[in-house]
Amino acid sequence: MSARILVVDDVPANVKLLEARLSAEYFDVMTASNGTEALAISRRAECDIILLDVMMPDMDGFEVCRRLKSDPATHHIPVVMVTALDSPADRNRGLEAGADDFLTKPVSDVVLIARVRSLTRLKMMTDELRMRAITSLEIGMQAPERSAVADTGKGGRILLVDDRESSYERLATILAAEHTVDVEPNPTEALFHAAEGNYDLLIVSLDLNNFDGLRLCSQARSLERTRHVPILAIAEPDNSTRLLRGLEIGVNDYLLRPIDKTELLARARTQIRRRRYTDHLRDNVQNSIEMAITDALTGLHNRRYMESHLATLAEQAATRGKPLALMILDIDYFKSINDNYGHDAGDDVLREFAVRVRKSIRGIDLACRYGGEEFVIVMPETDLHVAGMVAERLRRSIAGEPFAIHKGTRRIEVTISIGLTTLEQKGEAVADVLKRADTALYRAKHDGRNRVVSQAA
Ligand code: GH3
Ligand code: MG
Ligand code: MG
Repeated sequence: MSARILVVDDVPANVKLLEARLSAEYFDVMTASNGTEALAISRRAECDIILLDVMMPDMDGFEVCRRLKSDPATHHIPVVMVTALDSPADRNRGLEAGADDFLTKPVSDVVLIARVRSLTRLKMMTDELRMRAITSLEIGMQAPERSAVADTGKGGRILLVDDRESSYERLATILAAEHTVDVEPNPTEALFHAAEGNYDLLIVSLDLNNFDGLRLCSQARSLERTRHVPILAIAEPDNSTRLLRGLEIGVNDYLLRPIDKTELLARARTQIRRRRYTDHLRDNVQNSIEMAITDALTGLHNRRYMESHLATLAEQAATRGKPLALMILDIDYFKSINDNYGHDAGDDVLREFAVRVRKSIRGIDLACRYGGEEFVIVMPETDLHVAGMVAERLRRSIAGEPFAIHKGTRRIEVTISIGLTTLEQKGEAVADVLKRADTALYRAKHDGRNRVVSQAA
């Protein structure tokens, strides 16, 4: 896991120091001596994490951070402010600018490395999703980057796990100003509660009575339903070893007591914003997978999906000794529908045809658009006789009810021809099954159309 860290500082000695420590841990280090240079490097997507000095002559670190976080090309790069300033006000200015963390000079080696490691893991995961979501941008889905830079991070759903009443009451009141907060004072219930609740953020106290808060964090990390929910840990200041351990097991951020109100809110917003962004990326990936196997006009599966899936269905049928029926359906004289009423009317017919197909088949049947006005339906555990009845019912559902075109102002008669066959039990190649169905279809056309022709194996 070798990440590229960009160290930005106007004092060469500071740069050298951080560079030496990070290189010793095998991180790849790049450097910049001012904000302009840092922005240029990060826009070229050359770094994974940015360690940013606050006081620099041309543009201060707060401004650099703000610009990074408002640019769709760089908003997702984690930024750690490194500074000699350490008043809550300074810290909060950094967090408000969108920084992911704030380290105080002189920076402790252990804290620096733990932080950089945990942010590296996060960045790698986001990159993986971004890479896979790229294809969905190319086909015109909304870019998650746009909503991410506009997201305030407010309005999240938070679960607070804390068993000390004085503590959780104060924290819940602070958080309620910007979010919806549920409190779970019973740590043994917390995991269940978190899994059920669809939360954007878990805040976990590490000082629970008779319960190891870190165990809860690690369980939340391994449970499917809570894996991607960010965790913000809260600890006493003397508990830094446990906090570092927390970062290792997947805690995203932490706060030390006594909790500063503004800092709590800022850190919660940062986590929630990131969570929404990765969720959005994940949705995009899911959508692009669906689009890759779906025909856009009819919403049925496409040919590519059918061809890869048919082989699996055929294998299953053969090993289980069950029949498998397959039919090819072709709309009759479809070309003349286009010629007489226009291409849009042809599209209307295709869409409505798909609706009627879906109504006539079972959930386990596989319907796909095989070509222009040609469709294939595969029916597991169905013999030729039953499939013949389904085909006949389908033929009637098309011929029996005219199709609406021209926005419903006109209705036209449509018929289909169907060629039907079944898979031979002894592991026949699917190409042969398709060919047999196609021959049957040809006969249906030849014999006058609007009919079903079955061809036994
Ligand atoms: P047959 O009864 O022998 O099947 O005659 P046909 O006219 O239906 O068959 P043919 O293969 O000659 O014509 C199919 C037509 O379907 C030609 C093509 O332009 C049209 N077509 C293919 N895809 C689409 C589409 O997505 N939308 C529309 N509107 N037409 C399409
Ligand atoms: Mg046709
Ligand atoms: Mg055709």
